[in-house]
Amino acid sequence: MTEPTHNQKLFIETVGCQMNMLDSELVVAALRKDGFSLTDDITQADTVLFNTCSVREHAEQKIYSALGRLKFSKRERPNQVIGVIGCMAQKDQKLIFKRAPHVDLVVGTGQLAEIPRLVAEARENRERKLAVSLSRRDATRTEVAGSFLSYDPLRDPEMRPSPFQAFARIMIGCDKFCTYCVVPMTRGPEQSRPALDIVAECRQLAHEGVKEITFLGQTVNSYKFVQEGRTWRLSDLISAVHDIPGLDRIKFVTNYPKDMTDDLLEVVRDLPKVAKYLHVPAQSGCDDMLKRMKRGYTVAHYRDMMERIAATVPDCAVSSDFIVGFCGETDEAHQKSLDLIREFRFKNSFIFKYSPRGGTKAYQLYADDVPEDVKRARNHEMLALQNSISEEDNALRIGRTYEVLVEGLSKTAKKDLHGQEFSADSPSLRTGSVPSAPAPTDVGHDHDHDHDHDCGREPVVLDLPLAELSPTPSAAPEYRPQLVGRTMCDRIVVFPGNPRLVGSLARVQVEDCTQTTLIGSIVTREVQHGSSSALPILV
Ligand code: SAM
Ligand code: SF4
Repeated sequence: MTEPTHNQKLFIETVGCQMNMLDSELVVAALRKDGFSLTDDITQADTVLFNTCSVREHAEQKIYSALGRLKFSKRERPNQVIGVIGCMAQKDQKLIFKRAPHVDLVVGTGQLAEIPRLVAEARENRERKLAVSLSRRDATRTEVAGSFLSYDPLRDPEMRPSPFQAFARIMIGCDKFCTYCVVPMTRGPEQSRPALDIVAECRQLAHEGVKEITFLGQTVNSYKFVQEGRTWRLSDLISAVHDIPGLDRIKFVTNYPKDMTDDLLEVVRDLPKVAKYLHVPAQSGCDDMLKRMKRGYTVAHYRDMMERIAATVPDCAVSSDFIVGFCGETDEAHQKSLDLIREFRFKNSFIFKYSPRGGTKAYQLYADDVPEDVKRARNHEMLALQNSISEEDNALRIGRTYEVLVEGLSKTAKKDLHGQEFSADSPSLRTGSVPSAPAPTDVGHDHDHDHDHDCGREPVVLDLPLAELSPTPSAAPEYRPQLVGRTMCDRIVVFPGNPRLVGSLARVQVEDCTQTTLIGSIVTREVQHGSSSALPILV
C-alpha cells in the first residue's frame, strides 16, 4: 500500500440551512471511509472544504473572504486541496476559480457523491476539477433532474446535531420558482425520494439510537412518490416512520402554504410522536408583494390555512419566514407584514433583508429599490415585534410543565466547560460562522391552554431505568450543568440536570423565560427503592 501524499486531515466549514448540514454529514462519512479524520484547525488540514449557501449575497461574501485568507496557505502545505462545494459552486461555477485561483475543486449540490474521487484526483494531478449539474435553462427538465443526484447513502453519526437527532432528506430541489429565490437553480428540479428508501433509512437511524428525525425538503409537504402501485404523500411517510420502535419524535421542514393539506394536519394531530409544530413561511403580509414574489397564494389563502391548522391541531406552534425590503415594498406593504405577525403570533420568524440574486426573475425584472437603511429599519422593527410577542408568549408558559427531549449541554454550559471534554455531549457539527438565517426568536402562539403541558398532549412519565436516576453514593456533589432541549412544539428549554439525561425525554417545569428560551427545572419525583424507603430523586 502506498503512503498517502497528504495528512488525511479534513477541515469542513458548513454554511446555510439544514440541507447543507446533512450534505456535510454525508461528505464527511464518505471521506472518513477513505481514511480522513476531521480537524477543527484549518491550518492543520490538507483538505479544506467550504459547503456553501447562495440564498443571500452576504453568505457568499463571507466564503470569498475565507478563501482569500487561504491565498498563500499552499506555501506551507503544497499538498493542500481547497474545495468549494454546494449551492455557491453550482451557482458561480468557473467564476470561483477566477476570483480565487488557488481553489482546486468546485462541486455542485448534485455531485457531492463524487467528492472522494475528485479530492484524490485533484491532489494527484494538481488539476482543477469542476463538477456541476446542468443549468435549468440549457436542457429539458428530465435532463436537468438527472444531473442532480440525491445523495443520501452514508451517515456519520459524529457530524449530527446530536447523536439522538438526525435529518432525513425526503426530496431534493424546488419547482416553485419564487422570483427572489436561487434555490431552484442551485438545487435543481423538485424530486421526491423513494418512500421505501426513506423508511429503511429511518429504521437504520433508529437502530443507531436516533430519537428524533427531521424530514427535510424545500417544500417538504409537496412530497409525492409512487412506488409499487401506491402513492405516498408526506402524511403516509410520517405514518410509516411513526411505527418504527425507538423513535420519539418526528418533525418536517419547510412547508409550503399552498400544499398544507388536511391529511397532513390530521397525522400531526393524531400521531403522538409527531411534533405539534409547523414551519410555514408567509414571506409577506401584502398581496401585491406575494404576487411579485410569485408565491402562489394571497393573505386570505394563508389565513384560511392558519384557520385549518388551528381547527385541526389546536395547540400547534407555527413559525414563519419574512423578507423585508423586497422590490417595490412600500411602507404600507411592510405594515401589512407586521399586521400578519400580530394576527398570527408566530412562535418565531426568520427575517431576511431582500438580497438580489443573479439568475432569479426578480433580479431580471424588478429594481432593488428599497434603500439599505430602510431594509435595516424594517428588519429591526419586525424583529422587535416578534421579540415582544415571543416574550409574552413564553411568559404565559411559566409554571407549566413540558415534556422535553434533552439535546445536550446548553451554550452557556459549553462555555463554562472551557473546552473540557464531556462524554454525554456530542461533538457538534463544524458549522461555519455564517448562518443563512438569523437566530430564531421563540415567538408566541395564540392558541392558549390552561393545562400544564405543551400542545395538548398528555404528560408522560419519565421513562428511564432507576439506575440512571439514582444519585451516586459518593459524597461529591452531583455535576448538574445546564442542559438544553425542546418541547413537542419546538420551544427551547434550558434547565440544570444530569448529563445522562441527554437523548431522553424529561419533564421540565418552566420558572422563567427570555424572548427565545424557557428556563426551568426538572420535575422531582419520589422513587421507591427496595421495600421500605422512599428516596426523593432529583434527576
Ligand atoms: N423553501 C422554503 C420556503 O419556501 O419557505 C425556504 C427556503 S429559503 C433557502 C429560506 C428563506 O430564505 C426563504 O423562506 C426566504 O425567506 C429567504 N430568502 C430566499 N431568497 C432570498 C433572497 N433573495 N433575499 C432574502 N431572503 C431570501
Ligand atoms: Fe425558494 Fe420558493 Fe422554492 Fe422555497 S419554495 S426554495 S423560497 S423557490
